[in-house]
Amino acid sequence: MVRSCFGAIVWLLACSLFALPATAAPNETVLAAPAASMWIEQGVELLHERPGEPLTREQVMSGAAASRWVQHGGKKVNLSHLPAALWIRFTVRNDGSPSPDWLLAIDWPQLHAVDLHRLDPDAGTWHAPMRAAIGEPLSAGAARDPSYRFELPLHAGQRATVLLRVQADQYTVPLKVWRQDAYRSKQVTDTAFFGALFGVLLVMLLYNLSLLVFTRDRSYLDYSLYLAAVILFEAAGTGFDRLYLWPDSLWLQTHAFHFFGCVSFLAAATFIRRFLDLKHARPHLNRINQGLIVFWCVQIPLLLVLPAHVVDPISRSVGLFEALAVIYTSVFLLLQGHLAARYFAIAWATIAVASIATSLFSFGLIDGGWLVENAQHIGFVVETVLLSIALADRIKRERTSKEVAQLRALEATRQLEVEREHKIQAQAEALALQQRTNEELERRVAQRTQELQQAMKDLAAANSELSKLSITDGLTKVYNRRYFDDALRNEYERATRNLVPLTLIMIDIDHFKRINDTVGHVGGDECLKLVAATLAATVSRLNDLVARYGGEEFAVMLPSTPPEQVPVVAERLRRAVEAIAFIHRGERVPLSISLGAISAVPNAHEGIFGFVARADDALYAAKKAGRNCFKLVSDAVPA
Ligand code: GH3
Ligand code: MG
Ligand code: MG
Repeated sequence: MVRSCFGAIVWLLACSLFALPATAAPNETVLAAPAASMWIEQGVELLHERPGEPLTREQVMSGAAASRWVQHGGKKVNLSHLPAALWIRFTVRNDGSPSPDWLLAIDWPQLHAVDLHRLDPDAGTWHAPMRAAIGEPLSAGAARDPSYRFELPLHAGQRATVLLRVQADQYTVPLKVWRQDAYRSKQVTDTAFFGALFGVLLVMLLYNLSLLVFTRDRSYLDYSLYLAAVILFEAAGTGFDRLYLWPDSLWLQTHAFHFFGCVSFLAAATFIRRFLDLKHARPHLNRINQGLIVFWCVQIPLLLVLPAHVVDPISRSVGLFEALAVIYTSVFLLLQGHLAARYFAIAWATIAVASIATSLFSFGLIDGGWLVENAQHIGFVVETVLLSIALADRIKRERTSKEVAQLRALEATRQLEVEREHKIQAQAEALALQQRTNEELERRVAQRTQELQQAMKDLAAANSELSKLSITDGLTKVYNRRYFDDALRNEYERATRNLVPLTLIMIDIDHFKRINDTVGHVGGDECLKLVAATLAATVSRLNDLVARYGGEEFAVMLPSTPPEQVPVVAERLRRAVEAIAFIHRGERVPLSISLGAISAVPNAHEGIFGFVARADDALYAAKKAGRNCFKLVSDAVPA
């Protein structure tokens, strides 16, 4: 099929070349003595049967048909579709070669049927006709030879006119006469070559299938399908299919070549699609590829129902287009820097060059040996190996990029981890800082609270001191006059309410003016302190109260103290003062006090001033009585 496609190009070339006037060719092929094989390229005549009008050898050799024979202009018979069978006529002569064992081989297994008639031109006799056709066993002893071959014994100097009736879809009829021993050697070579060819292709297929199993990469499936299609196409192209694959299927023997050609084009298109990622390539490349896939998906089922001469030309044209499109696509992508495309470009260029070479050869446009004849087969091997390498390369690059991506992802994860750790550390530090701050704050609050509590305590102490000061006489440290007045008022009212006695003793230091004069005011103050302290220490009851009443006068209040107890207290006070050892300049200054007291249940009519006045009066009386003594008023309110 591929060869047919490139053959289409070559065919156009050939047509233009054959339009030139053909040089007169000798009308027979001479088998020269040392030659082991020889192409039948000269003196070949062709006669086209008309459809529905099969001819016999007698008819084609009759004078009536003489004008229908045309000299074949080219070297090799290679014609496109014909409406009916093709007759080919040529003459060979053994020019003295000692071997009579010759045979005619037509190495184009796609021919449907070949009937050979041999005329001995010198004797004018016909040999028994021979026939080889698809579906029929090949000539005896040639069961494993895919070529059409016919015994053609020729003694030295003998001539033979060969008449072939060929039926085919494509009339490629390479005619070659072989010495039988040379043909056997060729068969050995061919067997080895095709064995190696199919061996390599099968190994590639198995290799890619195993990669498919292991990697599950769809590209290997596509490529394996392509390889399978190519193997079957090659098997059909070489004729090995009908020897080994489907010896009993006439349909496959007839159509496998075309069918698998189309399948391999479809498989190539799908493989390329995935491999070169055409879905994401330039839109026009994608559209061309999509168009081809759709075409083959429609065309392949049509092969099963439509006659070959209808579908074949379309397949070949589109196949040629696909071959060119693949080269264009791969070169286009290659120029755009698509690395994988370079293998494609090389692989498809290889198969293209190889196919063109083989096509040129089969058209007889170039001469060449075995290599040129088999260039396309070799091209297939090179192509499939290159594509395998391309696939492996792509998978490797994908794996590498995946690994790089994984490494990057790993690095990113690690980075993230580090950042997370930093964050956690920062959070921990912030927490620690916050804790420290809180602790510091708490410590300060505690300190401040303590300070505050201390301050409160100090304040309370200060207040207490202040309040104490406010009720204490600054010099003598006994209660002051204001406190005394309040306390007296309270006690007076209480005693009035409760009808209990209240005692008030008014005390005046005797001749204090004189003491002052003697000891000075500072000494006088010391004296006042001593007297006050002595008075305070002498009264013992809890509610007794000593206050400085003014100047050198003191007042002693004794709540709930009846009059009979008062003289005892007064005397104790008097004696205590008298006992004070007030020393000035080494001399004792005698001290004494006069005491006047009132001790009575308060009288509501008298009032507090009257009550105090009576105590004052008592004091005055004591003074008058000579001082250093005590006077008590305890009875009822004086009239
Ligand atoms: P009498 O026995 O009659 O009471 O004689 P007296 O000298 O004590 O007489 P008077 O009560 O008239 O004098 C009181 C004197 O007490 C007058 C004043 O100089 C003195 N004095 C009053 N207050 C203070 C004081 O706070 N300190 C000193 N050093 N002297 C005072
Ligand atoms: Mg006085
Ligand atoms: Mg006095």
